[in-house]
Amino acid sequence: MKRKYILGNWKMNKTLNEGIETVKKIGELLSDYDGEYTWGIAPPFTLIHALSTLKTSGGGFLLGAQNCYFEKSGAFTGEISPLMLSDLGVDFVIVGHSERRNLFGETDELISRKVRAVLDFGMTPVLCVGEKLEQREEGMTFEVIKKQLTGSLALVDPNLIPSVIIAYEPVWAIGTGKTATPETAQEVHKFIREILQDLGANASEVSVIYGGSVKPENIAALTEMPDIDGGLVGGASLKPDAFASIIRSAR
Ligand code: PEP
Repeated sequence: MKRKYILGNWKMNKTLNEGIETVKKIGELLSDYDGEYTWGIAPPFTLIHALSTLKTSGGGFLLGAQNCYFEKSGAFTGEISPLMLSDLGVDFVIVGHSERRNLFGETDELISRKVRAVLDFGMTPVLCVGEKLEQREEGMTFEVIKKQLTGSLALVDPNLIPSVIIAYEPVWAIGTGKTATPETAQEVHKFIREILQDLGANASEVSVIYGGSVKPENIAALTEMPDIDGGLVGGASLKPDAFASIIRSAR
């Protein structure tokens, strides 16, 4: 069954105390929330353990990580394994974020190994795909999305694709204040479902969320679209009021 999510990606922000205070505040602001969205936060690795303790003490949120390696253990200096994350109670792992692809050179082949590893350790991969501005301007959006999805899901059994959350994040909309219009996002989300169906998945069961300058003011119109099942939120997830308001405003 498809579920609806608002997930925060804190990127490389917040110290230990700041992170704890932010999650506590979000929890307080949402204490009476009974809508259909499940919310989650992907903090930096350094905060995961502390936030997992908040989770076990009653907060109803999903705990995420922003990346991981695909091996379980070994001589991979500086990497974090999916075993380590599942051991800390991590629920979801963002994989293939455009900052990983573009700043750290991650390829679809590497991403596919990570998606598979996250699933193997019982967590939910949040697989990010999205075109750059020049690709959109050259009319290559669908081609880019198809290539990223096909390559990044290459090692996943089609029956397991509904266990992956897909995040459509047009690179030109990330951290820029420029949001895709609901119609533009819907067009790509629909296309994503068509590709997932072609890959052999039951696409109606897959959660496909949108990311790119999501704010309290634009989330309602985006989530009113039939193929948009929520949001992946960067900047606005750092502010408890804005993040809680996004969750309450999602349709
Ligand atoms: C992101 O990095 O996943 C993101 C969507 O960022 P922002 O909301 O700040 O555009």
